[in-house]
Amino acid sequence: MTVRYSAPGRINLIGEHTDYNAGFALPIALPQRTFVSFDPSPSGALSVSSSLGDGPVEIGLDTVPGEVTGWAAYVAGVVWALLNAGVAVPGGTMTITSEIEIGSGLSSSAALECAVLGALLTALGVDLDRVEQAHLAQQAENEYVGAPTGLLDQLASLFGEPGQAMLIDFRDVTVQPVRFDPEASGVALLLIDSRARHAHAGGEYAARRASCERAAADLGVASLREVSDASALGAVSDPVDARRARHVLTENQRVLDCVAEMSSSDFAAVGELWTASHASMRDDFEITTPHLDLIAATAVRAGALGARMTGGGFGGCVIALVPRERVDAVSEAVSRATSDAGYPDPVITRTHAGGGAGQATSA
Ligand code: ADP
Ligand code: MG
Repeated sequence: MTVRYSAPGRINLIGEHTDYNAGFALPIALPQRTFVSFDPSPSGALSVSSSLGDGPVEIGLDTVPGEVTGWAAYVAGVVWALLNAGVAVPGGTMTITSEIEIGSGLSSSAALECAVLGALLTALGVDLDRVEQAHLAQQAENEYVGAPTGLLDQLASLFGEPGQAMLIDFRDVTVQPVRFDPEASGVALLLIDSRARHAHAGGEYAARRASCERAAADLGVASLREVSDASALGAVSDPVDARRARHVLTENQRVLDCVAEMSSSDFAAVGELWTASHASMRDDFEITTPHLDLIAATAVRAGALGARMTGGGFGGCVIALVPRERVDAVSEAVSRATSDAGYPDPVITRTHAGGGAGQATSA
């Protein structure tokens, strides 16, 4: 029997670099998904191919990190993580297709992991808690693929619901749905892909993490989540670390403020929080680029209620909340400004919160 399973990409509405600081984030699942079609068979291996990768690639059911490299490592990592957790995976043939743009910060990697994991669990008839699934998918990416990422992407792909954002509290790893349907209030969510890809972001990510850890150590706390008053940051010895920590503190508060404003559908206030978040990422955390700053500032100047870079930084996408009647003006202004500055043409789409991972019948 063929198992079909799919999982979505995600964007984070607000709460950047807060996950590894035991803080808050507020992602949505995207309508774009990765689909897995799995035919289990008694063979001793998993044969996997993807419309976006080469293949087929053979994955041993007792695979260990280092054995499979390239795109199929994300699949092998899931097989390995499941086996580690005491779940023996069946062999068979797996085919993958995706609607998610790879490497643009929409988390095609977590979607791939979560779709593969769901397909394997469904074939086995094993029902695993979704937080547990997120941890396994993260383990696959961290330890098998070797990419140091937080848990946000996987939680968002697994817990997404149409018309809902997710308030994630990384201290105790809980996920709470928060209504997010700006279109119902005449406001569009624009996703602006800068088409600048985050090169060298790995080293910067590690440096930001180290800064946050040093700041927490200076303050004598286990994580920056335990600090809410920015005036305490005077005790951080390095001024750069103190600024990094200030971003984390203020960003956590902006996430909670954003949830409060969303509950009354005050998208003008939500937009202001997004613009403030962008400024904090630009000035305190220093993870934006002049290209992304230009896109965000142009969107606001042309009538967006607010705009911010989303994702780990140094490239990727900007999101903007735009009154319906300003969508064309904002899109044109952003395209013109980027073209005048010699940047690639952005890809601008109007998007919304979609559903999370699950058995799929389409695509
Ligand atoms: P992002 O998650 O932001 O899209 P990453 O660099 O984290 O970017 O993950 C992208 C990588 O994940 C790709 O280079 C590829 O190895 C793998 N990947 C994601 N989706 C697919 C897919 N549908 N088919 C094959 N490989 C994929
Ligand atoms: Mg990724």
